[in-house]
Amino acid sequence: MIKDFFSNNGIYYLEDVDLTKYNTYRLHSKAKGMVFPSTIEELIIVLKFLRDKNISHMFLGNGSNIIFAKEYYDKIFIKLDKLNHYEIKDELLVAEAGVPLIKLSLECAKKGLSGLEFTCALPGLVGSSVAMNAGAYNSSIADILVSTKVLTKDLNVKTMKNSELDFSYRHSIFKTNRDLICLEATFKLEKRSSDEIMEVMTKRQHKRRETQPLEYPCAGSVFRNPDGLFAGKLIEDCDLKGININGAEVSTKHANFIINKGDATGEDIINLINLIKAKVYDKFKVELILEQEIIY
Ligand SMILES: Cc1cc2nc3c(=O)[nH]c(=O)nc-3n(C[C@H](O)[C@H](O)[C@H](O)COP(=O)(O)OP(=O)(O)OC[C@H]3O[C@@H](n4cnc5c(N)ncnc54)[C@H](O)[C@@H]3O)c2cc1C
Repeated sequence: MIKDFFSNNGIYYLEDVDLTKYNTYRLHSKAKGMVFPSTIEELIIVLKFLRDKNISHMFLGNGSNIIFAKEYYDKIFIKLDKLNHYEIKDELLVAEAGVPLIKLSLECAKKGLSGLEFTCALPGLVGSSVAMNAGAYNSSIADILVSTKVLTKDLNVKTMKNSELDFSYRHSIFKTNRDLICLEATFKLEKRSSDEIMEVMTKRQHKRRETQPLEYPCAGSVFRNPDGLFAGKLIEDCDLKGININGAEVSTKHANFIINKGDATGEDIINLINLIKAKVYDKFKVELILEQEIIY
């Protein structure tokens, strides 16, 4: 029934999906389906149908900040990868939700536009990264975002200004209002020499490769840094580097990364997270806060 509806409406749909390539931990969960609307009109058709038929659904970006807790999801994942147009006019960049930030940072660098350097190694898509207020090197999406086009709960498209988005550290209105969907973002950049931008980005990419376990499947930093402290240092001081639960391991390169060294499941990662939290709390009385999102 679902397959027929999407097929009749010319909307790309996959049934019985293996989620391994849709999450950067490379967890082998499965899902009932995944749909790829290629326009806002198609997205509205998709949402009307899923709501009408009471079918559970969820938006998924590049899967680089999530942990699939379950082996099977009786839901449809909505991917906006086909909303992937972007345009640069003078110092303004307008990008749809499905554009990868790494691609944008390179494009802007080539054109001598500065502002997105901090995203040069951030494997998220525009929409989800606006929602996450992703950031690095003391910069975040909120610093360069002018406005965003959103889809509201009643399926209207409207523009919201930066000041209306309730941005704070890795937080935005999209996190508290899950019915609000980011469709497009407008960023304000600044002119700068292309060579200088490339140099900054190359240095950062090298540094990351040296200090982060990018050779293994992972989803970036696991915990937020508590005020004035480093989560990685606290974990390291509890002698947890290298501790492993069925293939889920605290990286020996950077203790605030969990890597998947084999066929770990989401449950293994969550068990390791709970163990780390308990040990850090026992030793330092610090409650670590998860930066990644567990999907139930
Ligand atoms: C190697 C590595 C390095 C990383 N480094 C950083 C870093 O430096 N800084 C940082 O902040 N993060 C980092 N991350 C984490 C991650 O890349 C970012 O949080 C990124 O913004 C998540 O984007 P995504 O497309 O993968 O989102 P996903 O993980 O797929 O989704 C995240 C959330 O966004 C929601 N969502 C998806 N699309 C939309 C939409 N259009 N509108 C509203 N909500 C939506 C999803 O439902 C989900 O709740 C890193 C991850 C890895 C693997």
